[in-house]
Amino acid sequence: MTGKIPKEFIQSLLLRCDIVDIIDSRVPLKRTGHNYVACCPFHQEKTPSFSVSPNKQFYHCFGCGEHGNAISFIMNYDRLNFVETIKLLADQLGMPLPLENKYPDLTKQHPDLYEVMAKACLFYQNELSQNTKAKDYLLHRGVAEKIKQTYLLGYAPDSWDGLLKFFKHKAFDIAPLEKCGLIKNNKNQHFYDVFRDRIIFPIRDKKGRVVGFGGRIIHEGEPKYLNSPETVIFHKSSEVYGLYEALQAHRHLDDALIVEGYMDVITLAQYGFTQAMACMGTAITQSHLSRILTYTQTITFCFDGDNAGKKAAWRAIENLLPLLKDGLTAKFIFLPEGQDPDTFLKTQGKESFKNLMDNATVFSQFFWDEMTKNNKALTIEEKAKLQTTVMPLLNQIQPCHVKTMMLQTLEKLTGIKERSQPSSEISKQAPQRKGISPMRTAIGLLLQYPELAYLLQDHSILQLKLAGMELLNELLKNIQTNPNCNTATLMEAYRDHAHFELLNQLAVVDFFTSDIETHQLFKDVLSKIEDSYYHTIEEKLFLKLRQGNISIKEKEIFLNLQKLKQHLLLEDDKHALLHELENLN
Ligand SMILES: [Zn+2]
Repeated sequence: MTGKIPKEFIQSLLLRCDIVDIIDSRVPLKRTGHNYVACCPFHQEKTPSFSVSPNKQFYHCFGCGEHGNAISFIMNYDRLNFVETIKLLADQLGMPLPLENKYPDLTKQHPDLYEVMAKACLFYQNELSQNTKAKDYLLHRGVAEKIKQTYLLGYAPDSWDGLLKFFKHKAFDIAPLEKCGLIKNNKNQHFYDVFRDRIIFPIRDKKGRVVGFGGRIIHEGEPKYLNSPETVIFHKSSEVYGLYEALQAHRHLDDALIVEGYMDVITLAQYGFTQAMACMGTAITQSHLSRILTYTQTITFCFDGDNAGKKAAWRAIENLLPLLKDGLTAKFIFLPEGQDPDTFLKTQGKESFKNLMDNATVFSQFFWDEMTKNNKALTIEEKAKLQTTVMPLLNQIQPCHVKTMMLQTLEKLTGIKERSQPSSEISKQAPQRKGISPMRTAIGLLLQYPELAYLLQDHSILQLKLAGMELLNELLKNIQTNPNCNTATLMEAYRDHAHFELLNQLAVVDFFTSDIETHQLFKDVLSKIEDSYYHTIEEKLFLKLRQGNISIKEKEIFLNLQKLKQHLLLEDDKHALLHELENLN
């Protein structure tokens, strides 16, 4: 979608809005020096570590690492998608969205299907209020009226055409019912209701629209649970039951409690655990997890204590590995065998469950317990097996402190020193100047202080064949064509870029410089890049010289590099040298 709204429009939007106003209207800001601060709206804290720079039009939280421009802030805070955010900003600034009708509003697609689902939901709710058997069942399970309302619980009548008749009676079109997976066609080309004699759990998307249903049989029968099939508006692999309701109950979702079924979510909510959610009849997928992690950084998984529960927990771990980062906490609760949250809460009470949550096993502990089967005295064979099993798993974790420590633990267990993946990526949580390569420093400085571009113009460094040079050149061109740019508008141009995250991190690195020092630092970094480039080639040629396999041309280059170092090379010769280096292997 991002590509479809003209980039120029987005850039001018960012130049006209003020991030300070935008954030201040949602999270009151306090001025300190050049910047504004507040307690971070994206994590819990008592002292402010959330900082907004009016110059850069960028925000950054030193506590949780969240950062971005006005668009990113609105997307994260108002929970809007990109197009919705652009529309909101454009509206506020009175700038009409160019060629708006060319951008299909995803939210307005399939209006008929959403409407059908909403009508069906009302029908089921109404049926529940009139059906003694269903009401008794929920009463017996201890479901209060308020919870019924919050989760829009309903009942599908014990009839082949209850829903069909309702739609026909109201003269609603029944064709979309099939598309929604609510009716099916039998051999005789007769339609019949899919959900019959079941408690209905409506599944809502993040906007609160009903996109699917889960149905539980009231007494005996198969299958115990029945879910809506995949439809154009319902995707089981990413929709999370209870997420919408949890977000309604909590402005900031401190944690998500992931359980197995609809009834678990309902019972937990009944006991005040309104952060409970569940996947629908499938094991948790990576897209479920990413969706949940958009709203909270703490996930507690609740499983049965039997083998199936352990297996499910392990599957969750496998899906979680690529998403792990510092600041994310994943925990596991295992209920006593044969119990689910419902039976546990009813027999042991709320406090006991709270206690389980407080003492949940953290991810790393569960991981190593499972991998070593609690056996710390491993034989050589076991150590070798552990190494080969664990390494591929750990390699899935992105570079972060957790990964480093997991690798250290493995090393301690097996005694094998294996070089981890290059950890050159900068941790999102701790942007530090230390340890950033000169090239990244140059890119970071240019992003934060675009006015430095004049120092780079026609600089000989731009021709060097070096990692990151392409990005630096591109950034420079970007600044030259948009003289009014700031960090926010520059970053926006990279939203769909492969290096967006890296650039975002460089945009918030604190270089601890005053304005004057910034210019000097930039100059120094450029020379450092140049020097180390020459130095590498010089070393290579020196080795060839010693081994006696240097060509005449290479020897000439080597001598010129020596001269360059002593500042004895004329400007023209320097250009010639650079040209020769380009062709050198
Ligand atoms: Zn924060």
